[in-house]
Amino acid sequence: MFRQITEARINDLHCKFDEASGLKSVIAIHSTRRGPALGGCRIIPYSSSNEAITDAIRLARGMSYKSALAGLELGGGKAVIMEPEGDYDRKALFEAFGRFLNELGGRYATAMDSGTTVADMDTIATQSPHVTCTSSCGSPAPFTAEGVYFGVLACLKAHPALPDNLKGLRVAVQGLGNVGYALCERLYNDGVQLIVADINQQRVDQCVREFGAIAVAPDEIYGVACDLFCPCGLGGVLNSQTIGQLQCAAVAGSANNQLLTEQDGLALFDREILFAPDYLINSGGLIFVAMTYLQSSQSDMQRRLKGIHDTLLQIFSRQNQTGLPASVIADQMAEAIVYGDDASQLTA
Ligand code: NAD
Repeated sequence: MFRQITEARINDLHCKFDEASGLKSVIAIHSTRRGPALGGCRIIPYSSSNEAITDAIRLARGMSYKSALAGLELGGGKAVIMEPEGDYDRKALFEAFGRFLNELGGRYATAMDSGTTVADMDTIATQSPHVTCTSSCGSPAPFTAEGVYFGVLACLKAHPALPDNLKGLRVAVQGLGNVGYALCERLYNDGVQLIVADINQQRVDQCVREFGAIAVAPDEIYGVACDLFCPCGLGGVLNSQTIGQLQCAAVAGSANNQLLTEQDGLALFDREILFAPDYLINSGGLIFVAMTYLQSSQSDMQRRLKGIHDTLLQIFSRQNQTGLPASVIADQMAEAIVYGDDASQLTA
């Protein structure tokens, strides 16, 4: 465990067992140097406590990087709850989790993640103020889509083969859920020709009907001739099987962990396909959640959402200067901010 903590540069790790509710939870705090650690809480049937600890540690560092590049004065952390087997009292479980948060005195604030719902966040809020994504907040997905939209605009500025406005552009969108649909709507309103794919046929039909989108089968979306490809479904979709098929100038989508391996970032770079690092371009939802938690103004939030565009341009410019892939530059910039080597390089 200490090897994992050291490698991921985790600041501290907290474990809680609450006998009455059956809560078994782990909170990993990667960093609070820039502010309280914010990150989601997932509830999953982990097969062992080691698996839960590994997951919390792995995800906490990513949150620090994401907050840093989004220009947020926040650190990174993540909570996991080992879902009890069989029937359990969900309300009691999340109440106990809320009390666990209080023991950390606000060093970590929680949010929704895999398996948790707005109702769970509301339950936590009955016990603790260190929670976001409650029913009074609203959905972050439209803000994530807005951030991706600003990222798409940055790609247009940075790639010499792309025009400087969206009208008439061909954009392929994979995944038409909360974020993908909102992104399609925004792009359609700017005159984009959409090509879409989803495993849910109803969602595809809706985009065809409402936005005049061209539908393709889920496994055909990679090879579609287009200007931009926006993965808004699953992670790991940029890999040795798919990158060779791409016929786009840039990849800019909301899905988390789009690159299956680090090597895949290099493969995109070698093919001269501009890649908008996912944890930056999809940080609009985090910005919304953080701004709600910190009670910041609408104008501050808008400024930070637009900051996604500016930070991407910085990354693309450094890519040109250094010959390193955007994915590597993003990590380097985030590390410099998180670990304090160069905190002045982003002006959000
Ligand atoms: P969602 O569950 O609402 O939508 C995902 C969509 O992808 C669904 O319509 C699903 O049917 C589709 N899909 C799944 N497998 C597919 C496949 N093989 N081919 C094509 N489509 C497929 O999720 P969301 O909230 O829209 O989030 C989309 C992505 O963005 C996820 O990776 C999520 O982790 C990431 N993300 C979301 C937010 C947010 O604010 N919701 C924030 C940051 C990152």
